[in-house]
Parts: sequence; structure tokens; C-alpha cells
Amino acid sequence: MSACRKISILGATGSVGRAAIDVIAGARGSETEFSVVSVTANANVELLASQAKQLGAQFAAVADEQLYEDLKTALGGTGIAVGAGATALVEAASANADCVVSAIVGVAGLESTLAAVQSGANVALANKESMVCAGPLLKEAARRSGATILPIDSEHNAIFQVLDRPERVEKVTLTASGGPFRTRTLEQMKAATPEEALRHPNWSMGSKITIDSATMMNKGLELIEAAYLFDLNADQLEVVIHPSSIVHSLVSYDDGSVLAQLGQPDMRIPISYALAWPSRMRLPDVQRLDLAAIGSLEFFPPDTKRFPALALAQQCLELGGASPVVLNASNEVAVDAFLQGRIGFLEIADCVEEALETLIARPATERQ
Ligand code: NAD
Ligand code: MG
Repeated sequence: MSACRKISILGATGSVGRAAIDVIAGARGSETEFSVVSVTANANVELLASQAKQLGAQFAAVADEQLYEDLKTALGGTGIAVGAGATALVEAASANADCVVSAIVGVAGLESTLAAVQSGANVALANKESMVCAGPLLKEAARRSGATILPIDSEHNAIFQVLDRPERVEKVTLTASGGPFRTRTLEQMKAATPEEALRHPNWSMGSKITIDSATMMNKGLELIEAAYLFDLNADQLEVVIHPSSIVHSLVSYDDGSVLAQLGQPDMRIPISYALAWPSRMRLPDVQRLDLAAIGSLEFFPPDTKRFPALALAQQCLELGGASPVVLNASNEVAVDAFLQGRIGFLEIADCVEEALETLIARPATERQ
């Protein structure tokens, strides 16, 4: 890539946002250079301001309107424009970037992700909840604007990398680490504290996705994300437990060939792929894969008895209509309640199930 590519980062202060900044900063002086247009955060003004200064961004926006003055003060004299509130986030998403990293957590990221897609930029999508809730809307907006949605969720990025003949795909297999409770009994999980559930064995991520990994709702959301992203049916999608997170997903073709993407569990790999697409960029700091040192790769079937959230998402994949929206919304509320100590770990899936039952009880015309 010759020209300097302009990037905006929605959710810059989060785990994915910080990894994206690491990739961008590490590329300085290499053959792939980036400049940053806008950065956003929910409320961490101090970190957002220091990122904006470090990157020489043109615009920084904070979601919490009350923090406008704080951000303005923190960036005083820098020449960096400042905004706050929902409109400022949309402004940041629509600014003149070649690629927008969508890394806000939850459905709160939908409005700005949609704005980024409508701007016609490449959208490096981490915010899976927006695809789960509004996949057809985002796809249609991309078709109209000419935007390319480039998944950076590691599984979907893996699929994207090996999906050369979509019309010949028989099956797509998402790998799942199984999370911190992979080998726990239901009885043990019943007593699980937020602290234990937040201890993911392979990935260091934000708290919401880490809890989703512990319940396996994350893999359920990813099934729906994959169905929308790659136009797949429920019967073309499956999940396999792969504890070491080395194989990031697999695509099976109708001639018996199976293509997979492998690599260390390091988000900088899929992020860099999306930022540099359709090229690739060198990541000298990423640990190389040494299969002989790893020795063996293990795979197991998922257990939906112990992880009912996965089965609920599979049910929504079949049901379609508004069910993914209800699944996601009830899960966001339940995860928050668990993190605040208001409900137990197993009650997360119970809440989601109850919300879905309410939806299913409604007449079919109201479920769309
Ligand atoms: P995080 O909690 O570390 O960061 C979230 C970011 O969103 C922060 O910048 C925060 O300020 C911002 N934010 C939070 N609430 C907001 C709101 N209401 N309005 C505006 N901004 C808000 O989360 P994360 O782990 O970086 O995950 C971000 C997204 O990427 C999630 O959808 C997650 O599922 C997905 N994802 C993350 C990883 C990972 O490795 N962390 C991997 C795959 C996919
Ligand atoms: Mg993932």
C-alpha cells in the first residue's frame, strides 16, 4: 500500500480500540502507514485525550454529554476538534476516513456503525452486537454506499480470509475456546462470581465479551453474526470447542476440502488484516506459530446442557425475525446485572430464555 490510509476508531479506549492503536502506532515508518481522523470513547476522557494527542487525530468525541467540557479542557491548545453525545459519535463515524474501526461494545455501537457503513468507508467490525441486531440493515446500507464490512472478530476474520468460493460452501465451523468454565459442572457455575467469570484463559478482552465467553453466549452471537455476514443458513453453521484458540475457524467446501486460518490468539492479527485489506501488513511483534512446540490441537463438541445460552442463540438463528434483537438485548441487561452482583451466573441464560419465551408467545406477525 503506498498512500497513507485514514482511520477512525469508535471505542478507541477499549480492548479492541487499544489493540488497533497498537497496530497503527507500530506501523509508523513501515510500508503501511496510517493517519487517524477521529477517536471516540464512552467516558474515559483522560485516556481518549491522550490517544487523540498521541495519534494526532483531527476529532475526539465522548458519548457522555456531561463530559464535553472535560474533554475540551484536556485537548485545549492542541487544535483537535471536540464533540460529545450521540450526534458527535455519528459525526466521528461519518468523517472522511478510508476505514472505520467499529469497536464500541453492545448495541450502543449500532448508530455509529450504521453511519460508518453509510459513509461508504471500509468498516472493520468488532461490534458484533450491531450485526446481530441489524444485520440486514447494515448489509443493505453497505450495498447502497459501496462500503465493505471487514470482520475483525477473530472467527469471522478467519472465515473471511479463507472464503474464496462462497457458492461452494457446505459448512462453516466456528471454533470456541469454551471460556473459563469449559470443564465446570452446573453446580460449580451456579456459584461463580464475576471475578472468576472474568478470568478468560486465552484472550484479554472487555468485561461484557468476557462474560459472554463464560456463558458461551459469545459463540451464539457469533453464529448469528456469521449467518448475516456470509449469507449462511442455520444448518450450514456449527460450533466446535477448541481450547487453545489456535485454529480461528474453518470453511468446508463441497469437494471435501476444509480451509482454516491459524495463528496465535492475538487480536492485532485480524485488526491489521482489516486495516490493510486488500493487502496485508507485517506485524513483527506478534508471536509466530510453532506447531511442533504446541504438539497437538484438541477439538470437542459443545455441551448445550451446561451452556444453554448457545442453544438459545441457535434457536434464534432458526427463528429469525426480531428474535436476535431480543436475545441480544436481554443478554446485555442480564450480563450487566451479573457484573453488579444482582443475579447469579446461571440466571443470565434464564433471563434470556424468559425474554425469548415472551417473544415466541406473541402472534407471528408481531415477531418480525
Ligand atoms: P471494551 O469494554 O474493552 O471497550 C468498549 C469501548 O466502547 C470503549 O472504548 C468504551 O468507551 C466504548 N463504549 C462503551 N459503552 C459505550 C456507549 N454506551 N456509547 C459509546 N461508547 C461506548 O470492549 P472490547 O472488548 O474492546 O469489545 C468491543 C467490541 O468488540 C464488542 O462488541 C466485542 O464483542 C467485540 N470483540 C472484542 C474482542 C476482544 O478481543 N476484546 C474480540 C472480538 C470481538
Ligand atoms: Mg470472536
